[in-house]
Amino acid sequence: MCAYIDVKYISMCSSLLEKFKQKTSSLWNFRCPICGDSQKNKSKARGFIYEKQNKYFYRCHNCEFGTSFSKFLEKINPSLHREYVTEQYKEKKLVKPTVSTSKFNFVPEFNNVLQGLQTISSLEKNHPAREYLERRLIPERYFSKLYFCTEFKKWTNKVSPNKFPTLKGDTPRLVIPFFDKKNNIIGFQGRSFDPKDACKYITINERS
Ligand SMILES: [Zn+2]
Repeated sequence: MCAYIDVKYISMCSSLLEKFKQKTSSLWNFRCPICGDSQKNKSKARGFIYEKQNKYFYRCHNCEFGTSFSKFLEKINPSLHREYVTEQYKEKKLVKPTVSTSKFNFVPEFNNVLQGLQTISSLEKNHPAREYLERRLIPERYFSKLYFCTEFKKWTNKVSPNKFPTLKGDTPRLVIPFFDKKNNIIGFQGRSFDPKDACKYITINERS
């Protein structure tokens, strides 16, 4: 589970929950939608979302209802919960690049591929690629592990000759490296910044 997605969806609940307030960076408080909190006293707010070991939970101190944030969201807004689940699934790979057990015993040729590419952390604050990641609420600590490439196809062809027979429609992309257990780079993914791009992800593996 990606914690920053939880935080994003918790913030999105603000319009669904009465007296919603963020108390600290990991604690939110509002009127419990399960028991309705007090009918007489509209100022009562005894529902809490809190964090424990990077996981998020709900508990009401009035009705004692408690569950994971995911189950809570499912209860209060099933359609938002579906979006949440989809996003968690999609982003898992982005934040934790797939560590695959490579069955090949080869000299890793891809280890230097990232040389010459700019890390997102080295880009100016108002660079569109950086802003894109900020909009997606990717924590800044990952910015040094993600790269920016102005011409993805052209660059890939240098790394893996003739991967793209044509450079038509070449665009800038976010480059996400994949590592094996020994920290060798075994591939990378180019992620489009354009949500309408038909090829949202292009994955390049060393032996393919
Ligand atoms: Zn309650």
